Amino acid sequence: MTGHLLPPTTVAERPDRPEEACGVFGVYAPGEDVARLTYFGLHALQHRGQESAGIAVGDGHTLTVVKNLGLVPQVFKESDLATLQGHVAIGHTRYSTTGASSKWENAQPMLSSIGPNTIALAHNGNLVNTLELRQQLKGAGFRFRSTTDSEVIASLVDHFTQRHNSIRGGIRETMQLISGAYSVVLMTEEALYAFRDPHGVRPLALGSLAGGGWVVASETCALDIVGAAWVRDVRPGEMIKVGARGLQSEQAVPESRHALCMFEFVYFARPDSVLLDCSLYEARMRMGEAMARTAPADADLVIGVPDTGGPAAVGFAKASGIPYAEGLVKNRYVGRTFISPTQSLRQQGIRLKLNPLKHVIEGKRLVVVDDSIVRGNTTRQLVALLKDAGASEVHMRITSPPVKWPCFYGIDTDTQEQLIASDHTVEEIRAHIGADSLAYLSVEDMVAATGRPAGEYCLACFTGEYPIEIPESVRRGKFRIEAPVR
Ligand code: SF4
Repeated sequence: MTGHLLPPTTVAERPDRPEEACGVFGVYAPGEDVARLTYFGLHALQHRGQESAGIAVGDGHTLTVVKNLGLVPQVFKESDLATLQGHVAIGHTRYSTTGASSKWENAQPMLSSIGPNTIALAHNGNLVNTLELRQQLKGAGFRFRSTTDSEVIASLVDHFTQRHNSIRGGIRETMQLISGAYSVVLMTEEALYAFRDPHGVRPLALGSLAGGGWVVASETCALDIVGAAWVRDVRPGEMIKVGARGLQSEQAVPESRHALCMFEFVYFARPDSVLLDCSLYEARMRMGEAMARTAPADADLVIGVPDTGGPAAVGFAKASGIPYAEGLVKNRYVGRTFISPTQSLRQQGIRLKLNPLKHVIEGKRLVVVDDSIVRGNTTRQLVALLKDAGASEVHMRITSPPVKWPCFYGIDTDTQEQLIASDHTVEEIRAHIGADSLAYLSVEDMVAATGRPAGEYCLACFTGEYPIEIPESVRRGKFRIEAPVR
């Protein structure tokens, strides 16, 4: 294991929108430079996590990990990739939802020993029964080095693998115990494994390389960048092994009600990814079209808030006949910097990230399309930014319904108290953000834009109907009123 500790993230403020938990990538491809494939796969998944990155490689005898805090290009040097030689690799980009974000130990892949052998594991999602499992495991003599639920998964896999003398048996039994959202890639020195929770909350795609290798990744955009062809999604409850005998698949636990996170469609996934056979770009365009039909506005220009608002703004413009324009430019790499902005820069808030195109928007009545409002403060700053730049009116159109309920499945939306829509009407939110009008997309129109029925999705942060039961110990303190949660 190599890697040195970079300075901790100094821009500590959580943005005013939900944040994704992680991106995972795995490849089995004898004869290929698997570390380099993983590096580029992680590049494509950088948007899913910017706090740490790691790659583990196995060559049949040893397993080596390089991981650190920081963005993918900050963590890996050419010399790292040159030393990571082998035929199987996994990688991870992390945004923490459990565990301290600035601890190197919490960066993934996570290493664990099983007798004389080693496994590495990377996880996207969030377990809801981590507390109980940690207590049980500590009682049974387990010791933990990190505070993550991923280490709990690794410990259970270790434990049951030794009992069954089989990694597949170990994973199978682990999947029967853990509850929540998990898309996991795991490797030994020789083989690649991938498994997904029975609800399929977080995505996991399977692809093939022209030379005969296999790739798994959180999103199809990571398959594209390494030249892999999408084959199918890893099924909810499925476990895959890729080794010397090729690809083997089993339904390790029965599928439950499907519950793919709707926020993947609204915001998290890249527009060039495909989920449930649906192009994210086109789904977002249809969300914008539906918005134009259900909440039209008298305006001169439609602009999107980069990046996710763009396709929806194009859809709004197309359906409304109002011209589309670029009205905001994003300072792309400022979000997670290791260099602290000065206090006066920090006070600029959203100006650090977005710059308005004054010549485009001056004197114009704008429709501004964004994906969500979570806490409300960033949207208020955005409206002020546009008005300061000369916009005569700002009509906010949000391509998701109001976020009223916290997420327990790997998204950082904190407690219900921090969600502005949990106790404010749309009109109150409009007044708070200072917009001339505000409208949200309905649950029905949002779901319809994906071409799949609502039963395929988790919609809990909009509806409060949680598809996976949340234990009392986890729910406590997260809701305004401790109402029974379905
Ligand atoms: S509660 Fe919301 S953010 Fe969390 S998994 Fe469900 S849809 Fe996604």
